[in-house]
Amino acid sequence: MEVEFDLENLNECLCDCCPVQNKNRCVLDKMKIMQEISQEDLDSRIMIEKERVPAIYCAGGKATLKDLDSLQECQCDKCMVWKEYNLFSGEPPGYFCRDGKSRQ
Ligand code: SF4
Ligand code: SF4
Repeated sequence: MEVEFDLENLNECLCDCCPVQNKNRCVLDKMKIMQEISQEDLDSRIMIEKERVPAIYCAGGKATLKDLDSLQECQCDKCMVWKEYNLFSGEPPGYFCRDGKSRQ
């Protein structure tokens, strides 16, 4: 089952507090956009433009990020989306921002 890129999963996604990507300047800029989207559409299940949001990399749809600190720990295994979609059984099992979307 493909991960939906929607607000529900965005709320669960832990990428925004992940040390792997938080030095990425592009990500910091996009974080503000994500906050705006969340505040504007908190109660809706709208589809979100993937390119605007630095999160839900397991759903893919954007270029793999560069300038990541892979020595830091991926937070995906603590995420409800990861558990709900059984992403641990797919490839890659995490670090989706670096290695691309989950394929099952
Ligand atoms: S995919 Fe994993 S490593 Fe990448 S930002 Fe999200 S939690 Fe961190
Ligand atoms: S599994 Fe990882 S990339 Fe996917 S929503 Fe959760 S924290 Fe984000």
